[in-house]
Amino acid sequence: MLDVLVVGTGPAGLAIAAQLCQQGVKVGGLAPTSPTMEWSNTYGIWRDELEALGLSHLLAHQWQNCVGYFGPTVKPLDRTYGLLDKQKLQAHLLHQCQQGQMTWHLGTAATINYGAAHTTVLTQTGQSIEARLVIDATGHKPIFVKRSQPYSAKGGTAYQAAYGVVGRFSSPPIIPGQFVLMDYRADHLSPDERLAAPTFLYGMDLGDDIFFVEETSLAACPAVSFDVLKQRLQKRLALHGVQLLELHDEEYCLFPMNAPMPPFDQAVIGFGGSASMVHPATGYMVGALLRRAPMLAQAIATTLDQTNVSSAHLSAAAWSALWSGDRLRKYYIYLFGLENLMRFDQARLCRFFNSFFDLPQTQWAGFLADTLPIPDLLIAMLNLFGRAPNSVRLGLMQSVVYDSRLLWQALLGT
Ligand SMILES: Cc1cc2nc3c(=O)[nH]c(=O)nc-3n(C[C@H](O)[C@H](O)[C@H](O)COP(=O)(O)OP(=O)(O)OC[C@H]3O[C@@H](n4cnc5c(N)ncnc54)[C@H](O)[C@@H]3O)c2cc1C
Repeated sequence: MLDVLVVGTGPAGLAIAAQLCQQGVKVGGLAPTSPTMEWSNTYGIWRDELEALGLSHLLAHQWQNCVGYFGPTVKPLDRTYGLLDKQKLQAHLLHQCQQGQMTWHLGTAATINYGAAHTTVLTQTGQSIEARLVIDATGHKPIFVKRSQPYSAKGGTAYQAAYGVVGRFSSPPIIPGQFVLMDYRADHLSPDERLAAPTFLYGMDLGDDIFFVEETSLAACPAVSFDVLKQRLQKRLALHGVQLLELHDEEYCLFPMNAPMPPFDQAVIGFGGSASMVHPATGYMVGALLRRAPMLAQAIATTLDQTNVSSAHLSAAAWSALWSGDRLRKYYIYLFGLENLMRFDQARLCRFFNSFFDLPQTQWAGFLADTLPIPDLLIAMLNLFGRAPNSVRLGLMQSVVYDSRLLWQALLGT
């Protein structure tokens, strides 16, 4: 019998499978397609996050000239950003899997039956796979992991949404050689359009006159529609007289930013989108997967080594390793940040980001990557409050009233 069955072969599934294999655990993988099938999303990450993991060789492109626009003038960010080479990352993780005792199963997981000592997963075609622990890594709408409440606009689920194109343009849509993290300039929008949810341009020069430009809504409830994002991107380009000449690829991006936390007393474990691991204030997750997979794999391996360990004990140990009290506290602090950002209009959002990126880089980088210990995170937030203009401070203080529930949860870590 398998020690662990990992369902899903996206970045989360492969990251945790690779680390379990490194721990000598007997792992099975289950997905409807081959684990070598190329992932469809574009994954960006700050170079230093990969460097810290010894993985910076997995970047396809990198830019030292990284900027934001939170007003008419450019704001240099003085930090190197990269585009992950998806194939290289996938190959790297699959290589780590191959070094262990990994077996692959092709199929779509359909049902799960929990026993005292093992769990059985049945696929749509009736294939049955048994394991002492099942990790559901099937993304933001997981097949087995239950959530405390369903996603809904009424329930306040906020989505990051983006529409992007890769291609050749009549003239460069961004300054050649540059990476634009956020261009919040809105000259292309009518006064009415500016009252709706703010969106920004995320842009990369991919070389050889090819650019990736994406109109992005950081978070909105309900989500900004793809039609609106598409129109805004076209208007933004048109304002500068830029036309798309050759379309190489299109990206439609939509995922929840504040997915309800899964209850931790369930026998199946989540990892990745299924375990609400997206950073609620930024939408980033790949760095977190690579950082947190070793710790979770080690906790699982250690518990598996104990004699007569029940399935319930195994899953409880895994959930508490993934979502420790401190991690939960930070999660609720970020959720508080997200609620602030969603309440800000275009102008206030720009003032907020101007102050945010004026923080010492260790603070803003640590906030974005979720690598600051809680005291340092609180210092960064107080520092931001101290630097921000009054209109932003007022917004933050209002949120303390509106979102006091999140601050209580942050305090309690539950
Ligand atoms: C377009 C887009 C761009 C993004 N860009 C970034 C970025 O730049 N940086 C970043 O950090 N994050 C980014 N994100 C956010 C997040 O990192 C991604 O959503 C990420 O792909 C989630 O990884 P995952 O492995 O949890 O889920 P997924 O990537 O969705 O993988 C799910 C896996 O489960 C499998 N599966 C599903 N159902 C079943 C089933 N019933 N049985 C078996 N297998 C099943 C699927 O085949 C797939 O292999 C982006 C998201 C999107 C949508």
